[in-house]
Amino acid sequence: MIQLMPSAISLNAPIEDLYKFRIARLGETLSHKLARALASQAHKKSAAEVTIEDLLTYFPMRYEDRSRPALIRDLRDEMEASLELTVTHAHGYPVRNMPRYGRPKLFIFEVAGIDAAKTGREVIVWWFVSGPRAYDIVKYYTARLTPGTRFITFGKWEFEARRNRYKLRLNKPADELEVLVAPGSAEPEDPEQTEENRSDPSLAAIHVGRRVPVYRKLGEFNSKRVREIVHAVLSILEDESIEETLPSDLRQRARLMGRAQALLEIHFPTQDASMIDYELSHSPAHLRMIFEDFFWVTFAIGVKRGQRVKESKETSVRIDKGVNDAIAAVMPFKLTRAQRKVTAEIFNDMKSTAPMNRLLQGDVGSGKTIVALIAMIAAMENRLQTALMAPTEILAEQHARSIKRLLAKTPYRVELLTGSLRAAEKRRLQTALREGEVNAVIGTQALIQEAVAFANLGLAVIDEQHRFGVMQRAELRARGLNPDVLVMTATPIPRSLAMTVYGDLDVSVIDELPPGRTPIETMVFGEDQRQEVKRLISREVKAGRQVYVVYPLIEGSEKTDLKDATRRYEYLRDTVFPKLSIGLLHGKMKPAEKERVMNAFVAGEIKILVSTTVIEVGVDVPNASVMIVEHAERFGLSQLHQLRGRVGRGAEKSYCVLLTSDRKTVNAEERLGIMAKTSNGFVIAEKDLELRGPGELLGTKQSGLPEFRIANLVRDQQVLEQAKREAEFYLAKEKSAVTAKMIARIKQDPRFGLGAIG
Ligand code: ADP
Ligand code: MG
Repeated sequence: MIQLMPSAISLNAPIEDLYKFRIARLGETLSHKLARALASQAHKKSAAEVTIEDLLTYFPMRYEDRSRPALIRDLRDEMEASLELTVTHAHGYPVRNMPRYGRPKLFIFEVAGIDAAKTGREVIVWWFVSGPRAYDIVKYYTARLTPGTRFITFGKWEFEARRNRYKLRLNKPADELEVLVAPGSAEPEDPEQTEENRSDPSLAAIHVGRRVPVYRKLGEFNSKRVREIVHAVLSILEDESIEETLPSDLRQRARLMGRAQALLEIHFPTQDASMIDYELSHSPAHLRMIFEDFFWVTFAIGVKRGQRVKESKETSVRIDKGVNDAIAAVMPFKLTRAQRKVTAEIFNDMKSTAPMNRLLQGDVGSGKTIVALIAMIAAMENRLQTALMAPTEILAEQHARSIKRLLAKTPYRVELLTGSLRAAEKRRLQTALREGEVNAVIGTQALIQEAVAFANLGLAVIDEQHRFGVMQRAELRARGLNPDVLVMTATPIPRSLAMTVYGDLDVSVIDELPPGRTPIETMVFGEDQRQEVKRLISREVKAGRQVYVVYPLIEGSEKTDLKDATRRYEYLRDTVFPKLSIGLLHGKMKPAEKERVMNAFVAGEIKILVSTTVIEVGVDVPNASVMIVEHAERFGLSQLHQLRGRVGRGAEKSYCVLLTSDRKTVNAEERLGIMAKTSNGFVIAEKDLELRGPGELLGTKQSGLPEFRIANLVRDQQVLEQAKREAEFYLAKEKSAVTAKMIARIKQDPRFGLGAIG
């Protein structure tokens, strides 16, 4: 049966079929192009899977109140505003790079305009046009912006005293300038974006005299065109075809508007809505969609967690007198209150029949390693094998060294397994692991290589979890039969992130440092203060202490960065401190060489260690009292906090110097200033999350971060808390029909990866 115009459109309808619904100027080709543009936005594998819902969840980036546009008279220097203007003249002129023949490649395009009531002097809107087609684009704009053409433009206006007028520089004219087309008139051909953006003059009323959404350019579709298409779709979509996904009692409790209304109003604010709420993504429509985002993610995590709790491990661990005595025999110091508390939490998990899946958070230097070791001893006393995985060889070696030392008098066999082991040795070790002869293995990612198998892995510890992805956690878990898993991190994870990324983990926090630490003094220095830094180093070394000097290695410029670090090392060694022993450590060195340098530093033979960030995590040399960070502005705050945590581990006062060449910029002031102000890792992580976003903070693209459509972990924390409470409410009623329906829903959504689980 051939259907030319399907009777009703639904949220699940493919975008590729959109042309069947007679949307102005949207033919089959363009429907396909639109689907393709949306596919990557919606994380869909193919354009054919893109639905109307994906289009409607392509949310506006901002809104403009065109019912009351600003006037030239109202402008102030640096003010952000959208103005409706009429072109007085427009032209492009070439700048530099004028080739001897051929056409120029760089232009400035300038439009002068005036508002309808002529409330002030003509203003200038301008932008650069570059590239091989620059000439054509300039020609196009000139034809498009003829005198008398009306347009709306948005941005930050600046007052130019010389010409006594306001100017606005556009970065993306396609997003920031919109031509208003008079009904019935034709538009010139656009060399960049022909058919996509030919808008329909009969739709002109959508764009003016009202509140309008502004979208990021979607493929080749500009904001105006997206607005037209979304508007058209919303007008043919019947309310009843937008299924409500949240139960009505929940909507009442959380005061959420219906889904159909929210989807409509998030695109087209009503005339009486508060525009401030819209700008802050805080309108009732926003809150509904944000809530929904969080609700399903936390609900899905809860379901996963429920499944895990129902699994059972091979053997649960017994904590008896024998275990406690074995632990007491190797303890080098008295545990802090916080360490005792988390140890008890871990023991409870280990005793249970469900596998432990616990995140141990504790600021740098809070003493997580000993807690992990205690858990390992408990498992080994129960005849189970244990594994400890660290992100770098240096760290794995350090753990192996100290654990071997502490367990020297016990019968346990402790081994180190890293990628740099010789092949024969590696094979011998793998056999020993498989036959159960090794009780504790400490290593890097080499632990989760295919050849590694255990006889009876009971506990897997992952140090510095943020360096690993969710996948590696699963890999290590798969080496045993539902072993207990303890992951440790010193990057304090803001609550909001922990609830989503690590939502399926139980969390323990060590919120106290071992006694006898003196706070670290942090200073932000510029290039002109190197003499002071030198004095500080001399003084501390003379007093018998040691110093780190750290260089960043930025991906892509590693070669030059490494050269910088090496050169600085040579300079310090030969010129500045010729009498001191100075070491160099970086990731490109051979493992044996690295170990030699690290050992010499631990032994106090090396006084100043110049290194790249390989020492960032976990390295523990209590005698080191100065941390100098070069190019501090290139590091994230959490990373700086980690680096700073390398000092202040002994009783002596320690110093952290953040050297930066752009000390005077706002960025450096705000970011590095925080480091000087607080030593609280949680405060720093919150700030980092705010400034750099979750992906950066967790330091890995594959961190398992859920894709939110609109929710923002920093901005919307309150909504997250509320959504999580509600998700728990329904999860607790496992048997109810409402909950069953919710579970069925998330299993259908590929974002949650629950499809395969029965
Ligand atoms: P992190 O949590 O950063 O991994 P570590 O486990 O490396 O911290 O511990 C930091 C330092 O504190 C180590 O030198 C460790 O021996 C010491 N330490 C840990 N717990 C205590 C304690 N209860 N009393 C004294 N020193 C401790
Ligand atoms: Mg550690």
